[in-house]
Amino acid sequence: MIIIVETTTIKVVATVMMNKKSIAISACLLGCNCKYNGGNNYTSKVEKLKEQYNLIDICPEVLGGLPTPRVPSEIIGDKVINKEGLDVTINYQTGAKIALDKALENGCEIAILKAKSPSCGCGKIYDGTFTSTLIDGDGITTRLFKEHNIKVLTEEEI
Ligand code: SF4
Repeated sequence: MIIIVETTTIKVVATVMMNKKSIAISACLLGCNCKYNGGNNYTSKVEKLKEQYNLIDICPEVLGGLPTPRVPSEIIGDKVINKEGLDVTINYQTGAKIALDKALENGCEIAILKAKSPSCGCGKIYDGTFTSTLIDGDGITTRLFKEHNIKVLTEEEI
């Protein structure tokens, strides 16, 4: 059902919404329970962002066909390996590509992605030993976003 209400206030709100820029954001930061353990990484920082931007949610690991909950994975060399030793690189690459397409379709020039994740991490990721040791590097999706000139920030930087 479509309701048309002709008021100046609604027209102004609609105009402002249409002019909002879109930014891609890790779905778990919005409260989606897509994290490997079935939880989320909600941060109240997103409430301010919602006022100024259209938030385009992405979860590359789910988009890449992985279940939730799932076995945690880390990047080892040029592969992504889960804690049971299974190579899940293809899931990460597929999810990154789908997330990129969604971001580009929505005109996103900026992405806010979850720090340290093997998909979404930016600047620091875990070292592949599953010992919570960080090294310099980006997650698989972050790498692809940067290759397509999408500026990536983590939630820690906003
Ligand atoms: Fe969050 Fe990214 Fe991991 Fe999905 S892949 S749960 S969006 S950090």
